[in-house]
Amino acid sequence: MSRDTVKTKRVAILGSTGSIGQQTLEVIAADGSLRACALAARRNWQLLARQARRFRPEVVALCDLDAAGQVRGSLPEGTELLSGPGAMTELVRRSRPDLVLSGVVGSAGLAPTLAAIECGSTLAIANKETLVMAGAIIMPAARAAGLNVLPVDSEHSAVFQCLAAGKRRDVRRVVITASGGALRGLDAKAAEDATVEEALNHPTWRMGRKITIDSATMVNKALELVEAHWLFDLSADQIEVVLHPESILHSCVEFCDGSVIAQLARPDMTMPIAYALSYPDRPLRRAAPLDLPALGRLSFAPLESRFARAVDLGYQVIRRGGLSGAVLNGANEAAVEAFLAGKIRFGQIVPLVEEVLNRAPMATEVTCQALIDADAWARQQVCEALAGEGTWRTTHAGRRQG
Ligand code: MG
Repeated sequence: MSRDTVKTKRVAILGSTGSIGQQTLEVIAADGSLRACALAARRNWQLLARQARRFRPEVVALCDLDAAGQVRGSLPEGTELLSGPGAMTELVRRSRPDLVLSGVVGSAGLAPTLAAIECGSTLAIANKETLVMAGAIIMPAARAAGLNVLPVDSEHSAVFQCLAAGKRRDVRRVVITASGGALRGLDAKAAEDATVEEALNHPTWRMGRKITIDSATMVNKALELVEAHWLFDLSADQIEVVLHPESILHSCVEFCDGSVIAQLARPDMTMPIAYALSYPDRPLRRAAPLDLPALGRLSFAPLESRFARAVDLGYQVIRRGGLSGAVLNGANEAAVEAFLAGKIRFGQIVPLVEEVLNRAPMATEVTCQALIDADAWARQQVCEALAGEGTWRTTHAGRRQG
């Protein structure tokens, strides 16, 4: 049977076995105009093999060599396998897709994102860390190549949709909403000692582990401020964060006449994913209608001080520029890993990241290598702080409480 009657959009998914990747495949399975032409994962070869048998991609990649060795016999005929640390980048170059959806966690998304720009692929970015780290390189490169960078993060998808209601120069400010994460019901003292299980128990969103912890610390919003700054060319003063526990109003844009345009939808990541995959068209989907009377009320509140401290990291990065985004991101990834591994308490994550950011040297020139070095430097700072944990904790406990 011929597939060529309708022009299908060929999509490469980086991080296909993660939460965003799996939901992207759900969207592709339900939309005949999309085809998963390339799938990449870090090491979950069992799930990647199942996905390959179902979606028949041209090429798959596994970064972990052992996992790649295991998957060999389980792939369908005609699917090529790439392996090793550079496999995701190679997968983009080999498949030259119409759109690359990047859902890999953390800074690992940088090289394949730059490869996508080289290949002229539209970028759909669910991996906010890549923009936080390297927005200064990615955005100008995409612009120069005439490529769209489409947000998949729910808040940024909302802003992107609201911006369509007016002219860019008429935007006064953007308000990003925050659910408050898994620990929002706890007071600051109780949250300090939250367990990994408690911090992972997000009330409204189904997401991966790293971002769920970021939601609980609210560093996720700091990262999202920087993401919004790069995506929409906004200054720190133009972006505000408001607490909205229901996660129904995903963000809004205020225009120069005082009109505020908001985007509302049930909290479901397949919504912004489908929007990015179908852009500039709106996908026809069988989403349940948003029942406003059943919702009854939506609530909004200012950020509590423990959240404001985390969000402030994002404002600092926008104002400082240079390599500070890479430092924020690297330090945070290392601190979250340390928390998940039981090496630090929940309440230590934000002070640790803040301390590393404060110590970051001012930028020289922003190059890919300088960003990678800044990321490594920040991770190293976290390791050193953990190695000298006793001293670190006493020096900082007093200074940070007041
Ligand atoms: Mg978000």
